[in-house]
This record gives sequence, C-alpha cells and structure tokens, in this order.
Amino acid sequence: MLVRSIPIKIKVNDLIVKTIELYKQGLQHCVDTAWSMKIRNNIKLHPFVYQDLRKMGLPSQLSIACIKQSCGMVKKAKSNPIINRVSIRYNTPRSFSFKNNILSISTIYGRVKIPIKIPGYALKYFDWKIRESLLTQSKEKYYFTFTFSRESPITSNQHCEVLGVDLGVNKLAVTSDNKFYGKNIKKLRIKHDKLVSTLQSKGTKSAKRKLRKLSGGWKRFMTWSNHNISKSIVESLNSGDVVVMEDLKGIRRTAKYNKWVHKWAFFQMQKFIEYKALAKGIRVVYINPKYTSKSCNRCGSLNTSRHSGFFECLCCGFHCDCDLQASRNISKRYTRNLGLAYITKPNISTDEHESSSRAIECEVRDKYPCL
Ligand SMILES: [Zn+2]
Repeated sequence: MLVRSIPIKIKVNDLIVKTIELYKQGLQHCVDTAWSMKIRNNIKLHPFVYQDLRKMGLPSQLSIACIKQSCGMVKKAKSNPIINRVSIRYNTPRSFSFKNNILSISTIYGRVKIPIKIPGYALKYFDWKIRESLLTQSKEKYYFTFTFSRESPITSNQHCEVLGVDLGVNKLAVTSDNKFYGKNIKKLRIKHDKLVSTLQSKGTKSAKRKLRKLSGGWKRFMTWSNHNISKSIVESLNSGDVVVMEDLKGIRRTAKYNKWVHKWAFFQMQKFIEYKALAKGIRVVYINPKYTSKSCNRCGSLNTSRHSGFFECLCCGFHCDCDLQASRNISKRYTRNLGLAYITKPNISTDEHESSSRAIECEVRDKYPCL
C-alpha cells in the first residue's frame, strides 16, 4: 500500500478559524474529562462528552473525531495534556468531499466550500483513493493535508531480478550488479571533520557562523546524495523485481557502522530506496545482516580474509571487492531462503577479477559544495 500526504494551502475563512477554535476547546474538554475519569477508550468516553460538544456547537462528525483524538492523546500522555494547536481530522464523504477543485468541509455553520489550486506535482495523486485528511493551522497559515493511498502495483514475475544492496562507509552503496555509488564520500567527510575542528578551535564569531552553515550544508548534501543514489539504483529495475537490503536496526553498534552511522544517513537512504521502489512495483526485502561481509558467496566458507577493501576466500580462493561480495551475499540470502529459482544478476562469471574491474562507477558528485 502506497500512502502520500500532500498539504495544500487554503484561503483563510472566518468560519474555518472559528471551527478550529471551537474544536480546540472541545478537544481540551474531552482530554480533561478522559484524564480525570481515567478513560482511554473513545466508546467509553462518548456518553460523558458527546452532548457537551454538541451544545458547544460542534457538528456530529467533528464531535466524534474530537472524542477519538482526545483518547489517542491521553493514552500517550504522562500528565493531563494542554492543547495549544490542533489538527482536525476529516473523513470523506462524511465530513469532507472534494470535487472539481472544490473542497467542501464541515464547519460549525454547516458545509463550507473552498476552491483549491492543486500544484502540478500533486495532480497525479488525485487519481488515488482519498483517505482521512487533516485541517491544520501553522501560525497564520491554514492547510488541508490530503492523504492518498493506492495499492502497490507489484506483479509477480517468475524471472525477476534480485538486486542486493550493500550500504557502507568506503562506498555508500554497492549493488550486486557491479555498480558502486558514492566512493568519495569518506574523503569528503574527513575533510569536513577537519575543517569543523579547526573552526571550533578558533571559536570566533565568524567561525561559529561558518560552522552553522557547514552543518546545514552537510545535511542537505547527504539528503541530496541519498536521493540521487536511490534513484539510480531503482532506475535499472522493473516492476516485479526485488531489492534486498540488510536490516540495519540490529547492527548499528557493530564495527561496520559503528563510527559512520552517525555521519551518514543510511537509514534515510534505505527509506528513499524503499519508497521509490514500491512506487515502481518493485518489492523491498530486508534480511539479517549476519556474516554478509564475512562469508564467501561462492562456497559459503567463513574462513576468509579482508584487507584494504579486498575480500579473499582462504577455502576456495575466490577474491573480489569486499562490498561487492557483501552485496552478492545479500541477494543470495534472499533467494536461498525462498528456495526459488530467481535469477540474480550478474550470472557470476568464471573470472571474478575481470568482472569486478569492469564494474561501473557511479559517482554522486566530485566536490562537496562547502569545501
Ligand atoms: Zn569460498
């Protein structure tokens, strides 16, 4: 299931402002009642507050939304919650509808029609199914955040390609079809860290200003690179194919990611690959990362050695790039677990050495803009 939320700015309208204000008061009343009576369930809370909300002037659907929302808040809270800002949940067709670029939403004075301008990038989502959406206020601006969903167009394909993706430090991503992404990143980060420590030791006002700029720059650079790399990885695949990655949750503290996991957003990269893949109908699978870099992908032996980024099996003599060999193990682990005849690319050639030297280099960007 694919889900997207698109906030769209709407013109301020007195009825909407008043509705939000009243909803906020209603929500506070529900929260206070639920808290003092120790009720965490909306059906149990309903008889104690529904009539009050209606008397305050909230329409029936918004009263129900209010009760539900308050129970959700009280469940998570450690003390009686104080409401500063609210988002009103709207359901279609009961409390809102959208047709011919007109949004019709329930307010304290009945339905209000608001003309909406849909930005070009969001047009395609309006063919999807519209789900529960939100009316929110941020300072003086008001937004209606549409939520859309669609079934993922995954087709089953007997001859699908299974692509293993290894994320790491020396190269940000290496895929089992011999592609390397982000080789220069480590050097850039070392340079970046040096610059940061020089500026920190200076401690002047202008040094501090530059530091702030640097940290924002690095963050944007990471997101930008992650977007580009994930795009290139997904581009080569078709609907029905499978992307296999390591489940990083368990290995944050292991040597492989220990130092670098804080310096590069690997989790973000996985999420980018995942949503781009799903949108194209490509399945994403996470596997247990145990021994993916240590075991030999040809004979399975653990009697192996790794030095200067090079992997060598002491059992069968197989040798190739460390991360490439890990990415092949990752895709292999998936196909082996399923016991299915998936075709993995490449069909491992007899001369591994040659195939890794033919590997395609995909660099993100030569220079980090702040250096
Ligand atoms: Zn081996």
